[in-house]
Amino acid sequence: MQKIDRYVMGTYKRSQVMFLRGRGCTLFDDQGNEYLDLLAGIAVCNLGHAHPAVTKAVCDQALSLTHVSNLFYTEPQAVVAELLVENSFADQVFFCNSGAEANEGALKLARLWGKEKLNGAFGVISMERSFHGRTFAALSATGQEMIQKGYDPLAPVFSHVPFGDFEVLQKQWDENTCAVMMEPVQGEGGVVPAEKEYLEKVRKLCDEKGALLIFDEVQTGLGRTGKLFAYEHFGITPDIMTLAKALANGLPAGAVLAKKEAADLFGPGTHGTTFGAGPIVMAAAREVMQVLTEPGFMDDVAQRSAYFKQKLEQIAAKLPEKVLEVRGLGFLLGLKLSGPGAPLVKEFLEKGFVVNCTQGDILRFVPPLIITREQIDAFSEVLLQTLIGWDSGQVEK
Ligand SMILES: *Cc1c(COP(=O)(O)O)cnc(C)c1O
Repeated sequence: MQKIDRYVMGTYKRSQVMFLRGRGCTLFDDQGNEYLDLLAGIAVCNLGHAHPAVTKAVCDQALSLTHVSNLFYTEPQAVVAELLVENSFADQVFFCNSGAEANEGALKLARLWGKEKLNGAFGVISMERSFHGRTFAALSATGQEMIQKGYDPLAPVFSHVPFGDFEVLQKQWDENTCAVMMEPVQGEGGVVPAEKEYLEKVRKLCDEKGALLIFDEVQTGLGRTGKLFAYEHFGITPDIMTLAKALANGLPAGAVLAKKEAADLFGPGTHGTTFGAGPIVMAAAREVMQVLTEPGFMDDVAQRSAYFKQKLEQIAAKLPEKVLEVRGLGFLLGLKLSGPGAPLVKEFLEKGFVVNCTQGDILRFVPPLIITREQIDAFSEVLLQTLIGWDSGQVEK
């Protein structure tokens, strides 16, 4: 820990825990303590830690081929691409290494789209409180001052509008607009699902104007919300969708999925990546996609996540002055608290539960999708007792 604090740049305020191993939804630290993981490495390890099929695939692939570049064909990405396309609205996929990089790819497609179909329009409307990543275009798209602070001037193509307010979005639209970019459920922004009617209106407006609708499903995709992709909840499809976090269950992988008309704008040499779609990462992603698309798997996730949400609602009903709201979809759930959540996160950690707080007062639960009802019960009991003892006015020590 001392070496990390000394030698690694200080972009993170870390909890004082060193994890050594994980299995399923359980993490083990260097002091012999066990934890129930309700964070999954920030919505990444959707199949839990050390998933047997993923682990075996990674080991087998490492023994045969690690990297040759995208100048050649390699096998593992073929199955992943097929499973992503055949189970979504998209016609083709571009693989990369992270969420931010996937969003960069989507924004580059939007730029080509504007040039080709909208007389050079390059403006993108994105949302306040959104999160799209830390690279320059992605952080410019992100609607949070905290993340942009110090990095201005930002990429000037983005205008930010309040998430959910169609009239403002419509007013913001001009002849320079080529795309709208948003998360169907804001994750970092506080676990806020969009309204179905709002998304329908945005979809219709994009269609009328010939502009692209880009969904950043880096956090919401791949089973997180109780469906394979969050857009399925709303009865509409985007033109482009970005994925990352859970795609390879912890190995770095991202993807840009698009309908044919947009996908066709990328040709040889117009975009690329050295590491993207590497065989080891794609072997892991293949196992992830196979599990997620097994008949019944998502139904089971939907049922267990509804059970978790019901438990949270029961707790909220008992403590209305402390828990102001329960929100989210599937296993992307948030509790809006009446005070800062950081001291609670620390207390849960001491009690053996890994949870997260976003926007200061939203406890966020994004456990592995394989969490059991017994584990949900165990956490719910501790959550209730902890909240009973919590003084919402307290500040972090
Ligand atoms: C995490 C996240 C990103 C950024 O992903 P990285 O892999 O950290 O670059 C982008 N968009 C959303 C919605 C995210 O949750």
